[in-house]
Amino acid sequence: MLFTPEKPAIHGETRDSLTARLQAEGHPAFRARQILVWLYKKRVRTWDEMTNLSRPLRAWLAATFELEPTRFVLTRQSEDVTDKLLLELGDRSLIETVIIRAPQLGVGQENSRKTICISTQVGCAMGCKFCASGLEGLKRNLSAGEIVHQLIQVCRQEDSRTLRARAELVSFDNLVVMGMGEPLHNYDAIIRALTILNAGWGLGFGARRITLSTSGLVPKIKQLADEPLGIRLAVSLHGATDEVREQIMPINKKWPLKELLPAVREFSEKHGRMATLEFILISDVNDSLEQAQKLRDIAYDLHAHVNLIPYNTVEGLPWKRPGLTRQKRFARVLFDGGVSVTLRREKGHAIDAACGQLRLKTEKAREGAVG
Ligand code: SAH
Ligand code: SF4
Repeated sequence: MLFTPEKPAIHGETRDSLTARLQAEGHPAFRARQILVWLYKKRVRTWDEMTNLSRPLRAWLAATFELEPTRFVLTRQSEDVTDKLLLELGDRSLIETVIIRAPQLGVGQENSRKTICISTQVGCAMGCKFCASGLEGLKRNLSAGEIVHQLIQVCRQEDSRTLRARAELVSFDNLVVMGMGEPLHNYDAIIRALTILNAGWGLGFGARRITLSTSGLVPKIKQLADEPLGIRLAVSLHGATDEVREQIMPINKKWPLKELLPAVREFSEKHGRMATLEFILISDVNDSLEQAQKLRDIAYDLHAHVNLIPYNTVEGLPWKRPGLTRQKRFARVLFDGGVSVTLRREKGHAIDAACGQLRLKTEKAREGAVG
């Protein structure tokens, strides 16, 4: 399961760790700062573009680090709202990174709000019954550098889309850790990656605009609450009672609601910010009025925001989304109960935007091509 690339990705180094490596080779500390500018402000693709470094230093870097830990394979667009990037890793594994554009009234597409959704693992070990990412289990964790490099690919995609000169600053508004994988099951790598994305010498992306979504690894939620980073938390609830949640999320057996909900409360109290409860609406599984009422009580009590997501069908799985009237009826119960609630209008269904689906199809096509 553990994949050890011959060379670690340089995007997984912090300023301190890179400085230490360079100093151990006899180079001054300012070289690290120069390299970080090439990586995060210029986003170069080759070591030779780092023209203010000596040839021997560039040769040492090339021998020591991977500069392109992900390779762009293809992009799929849906109604100009969602772009899905399929990326290949060093061991040929595939991951997905999604750009979701929310057009704003009166402004051009270029100025729409952009949310980036990143992956943290190849596959997922949590085995939620409705999810394409978990269908074939966990293949491996992503390294911090592979996680960070997804954002470099997004920036490049945006640079080419807008046909502008390469922007020094990243041009997206929100980052959600909601792609393939369970981020808290790859804890050290995701914390390191988010630290790099957040740092001024990295991508300089504000922690308040980062949301991490988890299926509910209680001890790790507690650990995350103590991190100085200050990111936002979303919890995939999908069931307002243990009975319903357990049917679709095996993790609920290990950490049932009586353990999960206090951990969410602890997190929001420490951070002074509302957590989000995500709730996929699946027809005849969790969309009853009774579930809506129970969810309303939980959210009210936790002072949490609820994000209702109509289920995105996955090929080969039996689950379906309820009709719009039923979705609205569910949302109404929460709204009338004084809970902050959004019913997500679906974006990107046409390009399989739910986590893991595009990757799964491409893997299957590959298998087909081979076999
Ligand atoms: N593993 C983490 C983050 C990745 S999944 C988690 O589970 O929270 C991101 C979100 O997509 C989760 O809320 C997940 O339940 C949801 N999701 C998975 N499959 C989906 C589908 N087919 N339709 C709609 N949402 C889905
Ligand atoms: Fe993993 Fe999240 Fe999918 Fe569950 S919903 S299998 S935790 S990626």
